[in-house]
Amino acid sequence: MARYTGPRCRLCRSQKQKLMLKGDRCLSVKCPIDKKVSFLRKGPPGRPANARIKKISNYGVQLKEKEKLKEIYGLLEKQFKRFFNMAQRKKGITGENLLVLLETRLDNVLYRTHIASSRQHARQLVLHKHVKINDKTSNIPSIILKQGDVVTLKESGKKLISVLESLKRVGTDGVPSWLEINPDEVRVIIKDLPARKDLVYPGTINEQLIVELYSK
Ligand code: SF4
Repeated sequence: MARYTGPRCRLCRSQKQKLMLKGDRCLSVKCPIDKKVSFLRKGPPGRPANARIKKISNYGVQLKEKEKLKEIYGLLEKQFKRFFNMAQRKKGITGENLLVLLETRLDNVLYRTHIASSRQHARQLVLHKHVKINDKTSNIPSIILKQGDVVTLKESGKKLISVLESLKRVGTDGVPSWLEINPDEVRVIIKDLPARKDLVYPGTINEQLIVELYSK
């Protein structure tokens, strides 16, 4: 699966906010946004610091919102559009459907339950075949989980230091109400599908802007 391989902190600089793309590093003093105030003052990457700031158009605002959501979930345009088309085909509000589909991806569930420290780490665990869904090994990070699905790690995965370190955050940060984790067994149950109010992002997401952008 193709994915963005460039510097991820650059994406935060472009969005002028912390997108939390590098796991524990984002919470440490090593995050350049926390380390140097000047990191954001420099403006978006690729533009001189003293460049004139242009007024951003409506289209620009919509585009930026879409880019932000893509960057948070680590998706490229084609993958993101596929999720949008799926959201459109479902009953209900397209924008909310889109967020729920993205949130119930296997890699995201591993991240939200602190089995993985970032969505990228989660993808690596899945691709290395450490993860099982309903007792069957899965190597597809984008698979969409359903209510009642049970996600576990193989013994090989449970022993990984990166997983053990990440799981420490279950006690301190908790997990979303629609998920349940037993950290000792590294077993997750999808109790329910998330509602819009359950979805928390760095900053805010206005999904309606994305729907308007694709409706043009
Ligand atoms: Fe880099 Fe994470 Fe800080 Fe973003 S939040 S700038 S990805 S360390």
